[in-house]
Order: sequence, then C-alpha cells, then structure tokens
Amino acid sequence: MLIRVTRNCPWNRCRFCRTYKGQKFQLRPVEEIKQDIKTARAIQDKIKELSWKSGYGGRLRDAALMVLDNPPDQAHYNVALWLYAGGESAFLQDANTLIMKTGELVKVIRFLKETLPSINRVTSYARSKTAAKKTPEELTKLKKAGLSRLHIGLESGYDPLLQYMDKGVTAAEHIAGGRKVVESGISLCEYVLLGLGGKAMWREHATETARVLNEIDPEFIRVRTLTINKGIPLYNEIENGNFVRATDEETIEEEKLLIERLECHSNFVSDHITNLLQEIEGKLPQDKEKMLASIDRFQSLSPDEKQNFIVGRRLCIYSQLDDLNNSHKREAVEQVIRETSQGNDQVDEKTIYALMEGFIS
Ligand code: SF4
Repeated sequence: MLIRVTRNCPWNRCRFCRTYKGQKFQLRPVEEIKQDIKTARAIQDKIKELSWKSGYGGRLRDAALMVLDNPPDQAHYNVALWLYAGGESAFLQDANTLIMKTGELVKVIRFLKETLPSINRVTSYARSKTAAKKTPEELTKLKKAGLSRLHIGLESGYDPLLQYMDKGVTAAEHIAGGRKVVESGISLCEYVLLGLGGKAMWREHATETARVLNEIDPEFIRVRTLTINKGIPLYNEIENGNFVRATDEETIEEEKLLIERLECHSNFVSDHITNLLQEIEGKLPQDKEKMLASIDRFQSLSPDEKQNFIVGRRLCIYSQLDDLNNSHKREAVEQVIRETSQGNDQVDEKTIYALMEGFIS
C-alpha cells in the first residue's frame, strides 16, 4: 500500500538524481492523508463484499484477482494489487517522510494501522540530516506507532564527494542520523551508490563509505550502481569533462575495496538491475569471503569473457556469473557484440553506458 504522506523531495538538489526534479515539495495535511486511507479501506470492504458474493467466502486474494482483471480505476487497481500481494505492508512516500512533524506522522501511522489492521510493516524513505535532527524520544514514538524500517540514501561517506554531488549532508550527519535510527529500534537500510566517485574519487568513496557504515552498523546495506542519462544534472558534468565515469570493471574494484573495509553486522544486498554482480549478497561479517569470492571470480575471467558478461548483464540476458555456462545465452550475447562492434569484437564504454541508460529511462 503506497500512501503519499508528502509530495516530492524537500532537498531535490543531488546531482545524480532526477526523480523529483521540477516538482515542488509539499507537506500534506493529516486529514487529507487520512481521507486517502479511508478510501483504501472502503475499496477493501467492497472487495471483501465481492468475495462473499462470488463464493470466495470473504477471501480477499481471489476477489482482488477479479478486480485486477478489470479495475474501474487506478485506486481500485492499487488496493487490489496490494491485497493480492498479502495486504501486510505499507510504504509512506515520497523522498523524506521524516520531515513531517513527529506528532503528525505518529497520527498517520496509527490511523493507517487501525484502519487497515492487516498491515504489520510500515516503511519509508528519510534523509540522514532529518533523522539527525529528531530527538531519540521522537524516533522511539515513531517506532512504537508502528514504523518498521527507514530507507536512507547514504550514497557515499566521503565528504568532498558528498559536497560535489550536492547531497546536502556530511559524513558526520550520516553517522548521527543513522545511529539515532538504529538506537530507536527502527530497522535501517542504507543505500550506497557504486561508481559515484567516478575515476577520480573511487578509492576514497569506497574507504570512507565503509568507515561511515561501520559506525552506523545498519541492518541492511543496499548497493545501486550510478546510472546517468540526459535528464540528470550530472550528465552535463560528464559532457564538459568535470566528472569521468568509472567503467564496470573499475566499479567492481571499488566494490571490492568497500566490502574488504566493512566491519559491521549488516545484511549486504545487491538486488538491483544496475549492479553488475547481483549475486554479491550476504550477512556480514561471516559472508564477507563468499562475497569477495564472487568478485574474484569475475576478475579472473579472460578479457573476452569479462566483456561478454558485462554486455550480457547490461542487455539483461545474464543475471549471474553462472549464466556464462548457458551456451544459448552466451551465443546471443556474442551475436550482439559482433553486431555492435566494428569488426574488432570490442564494445566501447559509451555503448555500455548507453545500455545502462535503458534501466532508468
Ligand atoms: S535527497 Fe534523494 S530524492 Fe532528493 S534529490 Fe537527493 S537523491 Fe533525489
């Protein structure tokens, strides 16, 4: 269940992000949000009624499937989809829900859980800076109201890079905000942007990010890989030569350094299409060697195999290194390489970046 408790991003300046560019941030009145929740409840009740009438004995999942076949509007589609998926979790949108007054956010979460009691998990996005400004008591109130997890875009722990990317937060604020969330008992997921340091700052990006994560010790660390297209402010920096992107191989070297330096107890997750090696997953510290072994396996491939894997990943033909053993997939990738390269079977970096743009267009 997606509940939009604020609109857009109050910061909206990060150079690598275009999600809310051109959109004005707005807080929404609590009564207006409650009205959305009541609407969701009314739709849920209708679906329940439909279930009884259709002989499904009140089972929501079967009736939700009927609604999904022919939804009268977007709201019915959303609620039916949520019920079909189990109806247990809610996500409070948009980019920084914590910016709401704590008392108002508590009211919203309580009302949400009272009105839709099947919800047992409430998650949201937040900025470290905002989390750092909340008192421990405020975060504890949110936890008690039912806020289960916060997702924070750490991106990097290296101050000059945070400043260059206009992230609007320092490494110290990341640590202060992150620690407060962890200490409140709210589960914390920190997002790291691989490749953000480009060719110039990758080493500091990796080591300082690891340092900051070690201090925070979040329950989850999720990685994404920098992907840029024309709508993103950083694109202009690339065009004028101020920012030089790292290649996939360089980004993997950066990720290796990051993992080597991690000394926390987090679950490391790579579940995103932009990551070259999605199989780098595990619980730290015990799975560190296993994660580094995946990197070694990639780095030990011959240059042709590496290129084949990179192109195959960027075409979404491969999902893991083992797919290199699938002769059909491998042949399909080889054919693309033959068609894309100009007779030398070499695919240049620009082509790879262009393929990656498809992930965010
Ligand atoms: S804070 Fe998040 S949503 Fe806002 S501009 Fe930065 S990355 Fe984008």
